[in-house]
Order: sequence, then structure tokens, then C-alpha cells
Amino acid sequence: MSNTAKPHLASHMLPVFARADVAFERGEGPWLIATDGERYLDFTSGVAVNALGHAHPHLVAALQEQAAKLWHVSNLFTIPEGERLAARLCDASFADVVFFCNSGAEAMEAAIKTARKFQAASGHPERYRLITFEGAFHGRTLATLAAGGQQKYLEGFGPRVEGFDQVPLGDIEAVKKAIGPETAGIIIEPWQGEGGVRAADPSFFRALRQLCDDNKLMLVFDEVQTGMGRTGTLFAYEKTGVKPDIMALAKALGGGFPMGACLATVEAAVGMTPGTHGSTFGGNLLAAAAGNATLDIMLAPKFFEHVQRVSLLLKQKLASIVDRYPDVVSDVRGDGLLIGLKAVVPAGDLVAAFRDEKLLTVGAGENVVRLLPPLIVSEAEIEDGIARVERACAKLTQAQMRQGAAS
Ligand SMILES: *Cc1c(COP(=O)(O)O)cnc(C)c1O
Repeated sequence: MSNTAKPHLASHMLPVFARADVAFERGEGPWLIATDGERYLDFTSGVAVNALGHAHPHLVAALQEQAAKLWHVSNLFTIPEGERLAARLCDASFADVVFFCNSGAEAMEAAIKTARKFQAASGHPERYRLITFEGAFHGRTLATLAAGGQQKYLEGFGPRVEGFDQVPLGDIEAVKKAIGPETAGIIIEPWQGEGGVRAADPSFFRALRQLCDDNKLMLVFDEVQTGMGRTGTLFAYEKTGVKPDIMALAKALGGGFPMGACLATVEAAVGMTPGTHGSTFGGNLLAAAAGNATLDIMLAPKFFEHVQRVSLLLKQKLASIVDRYPDVVSDVRGDGLLIGLKAVVPAGDLVAAFRDEKLLTVGAGENVVRLLPPLIVSEAEIEDGIARVERACAKLTQAQMRQGAAS
């Protein structure tokens, strides 16, 4: 815009993230080792991405082996490892077909397009609207932002992508009222992650399934965060008692390698014919190797028994902390290792207090702090994490008492 001298910037990264002033150079399972040598217990797992922890030997070997052979060929050609991964994901789920992409938002874009195209291909091109829920998060592209409906994220980016109708979570009458002649489907997260670890109960999911069946609508599950074991089963829908028609996956799918997927039944995917959608990078050889290696571990016998055991331990210990520090935390919610701790103090203060104890956690909506340990976390590491949570809560309680005495 002008030819004045460039400003001097401390960082040349676009400042869209408020980053903590800590950098890591190594990881071992649930541990992150900072550049100053300090060890942190990582209960963020890269925001539900590193489900198998850091530097898992099986993932490292799979990627190293693939990296020496072939990285990328494009989707002009057959990718046998991608075919195998798609078949395994379908084998383990309701789905028949898979589209690979590189992120959660892209997986949701593919899900939205598949739902709309189903209606068009079924003789109802007028049906393009999707019902979504308050507190939802579906990504940062223009369409997925409109689907999520959060005003603060939509502000200043021009007209909102049309075709999303938002209703309160758990309100089946509101869903019924929102269904009109232009409705194509319903999009829901089995657990809202970013929204504050919230879920509707199974009866609500059953009612949604029934409404979709009665009205020929697509039921779309956004399992970008809940999928790939996070809630203690491979997919969270398994616990809702219903199957979706379309499901988006990403975060943990590649065990840390950027990867997304949109899964669907053949009926739901009827409109997705050659040329209707695509991706340059989606499901390349490195991604397919990472995805298959991740599944190798998750599908091994007893993997989810372990997740459920450590989940129970974490929830029980956190409940006892809620009892003992009611001025700091008030509730434990979530399933598997998608755990939310409702804060009484500002959630950001609690995240900072945990970080002072070298425990990494991540905030969410509704003043909740998410604890997302890798699924391979041991019982001893859960106990270690709880000791850090307790020390942080004790310090915050003491600080509150000092403030109370001073005022
Ligand atoms: C993280 C997330 C997304 C977006 O994923 P990106 O990879 O950041 O695009 C979408 N939906 C849900 C439920 C998520 O948790």
C-alpha cells in the first residue's frame, strides 16, 4: 500500500493466536520437554490431536519408513495405503465410503457438501439448509463458521454463508420447528469440545435420528474432536445409540499428522460423483501411513479398556478436587479423556495456575478448562497430573483467602 520502511516486528507470524511464552523441542508420551529443559505433563495433546502421545515408536517408524519411499503423488492416482485406511475406517464404523482431506474444517465442508448434494441428487435441490446447535464449533472456513454461528468469529468477514439455522442444544421442539421445506439435514457434535464439554443426552440423539428418518434428512456428526478414541470408544456416536449418515473426523486421525476425513454411507454419498469434490493433498502417502499406524494401535485388543480405566480414575480424582476446592472449580464433565473442569475463577487463571505446575491444559467455552491427556497416559501419570491440579487449586484458594483478608 505504501513504500515506507517495513515495521520491526518481534514475530512475523500473523498474530491470530495468543500464544503462551513457552516452546518445546521434544516429546515422550504425555511429556513435553521445553527448550529450557523443563518437563511439562501434556494434558492438551495438541488439542486432542496427539492421541498416542508424542514420538510414539510405532508412528515414528511408520512415517520414517514412508518418508524414505514416497510422500505425495496427488489424487490422480491410486493410493493403496489410503484405500486400506478407508476400508479399515469403514469396517470399524457405520460408513461405506471415505473422503480424505487435511483438517477438521475441510472434513466439515465435505460433510456439508455431501448432505446438500444428497438432497439435490434425490430430486430435492431446494433442500440445502442445515440445522446446527448453539455453542457448536465446526471450524474456521466461511461455511463452517456460519455453521458454528459464533458471532465473535463471524464479525468483519462479510456476509455470513447462507443456509444454517441454529437452535438450542437439547431442545427437540426447537429442532422440529426449524425443519422446513428447504432443510437438508442436522449437524451435531456428540460432545461439544470447544463449546465447553457439553452433550445432549442419548434420548435427544434418538429423537434427531427419528426426525431425520421421517423427513429424509441427513444426520451429520462432527466427530473431529470426539472421534478416534477421545471419548473412550473409537467413535463417540457408538454411545449415543444411533448412527449418523455422515461423519467428519480429523484431529487424532493422523496421530499428529494433519489429516481429516468425511465418512458416509453409500446412500448419503449418492451425489458425490467424480468431479464434485476434491483435494490436492488429502490422504497422501504420508497421511495414509500416519492414519494406518494410529489405527494399528487403537484397534489392538484392550486399548479402550485402558482408556476407560484411566478416564474413571481421572474423573473420580477430579470430583474429589471439586469437593475440596469449591471456590476454584465447581464441576467435572465429559467422557473418556475429553474432560472439562468447570472453573469458578476465570478459566484462563486456572490454565495459567496449572501451567505454573508444569501441567498443560486448554480452555473452552462456558469458563471450562479441558483436560485432554493422550489416550496412552498411564495411571501413575494421571495421579501425577492430579497432584499438579491439586497444588494449583490450593494456591488459588490461598490467594483468594489473602485477598479476602486484605479487603
Ligand atoms: C477442531 C474442530 C474443528 C476444526 O478443525 P480444524 O482442523 O481446526 O479445521 C471442527 N469441529 C470440531 C468439533 C473441532 O473440535
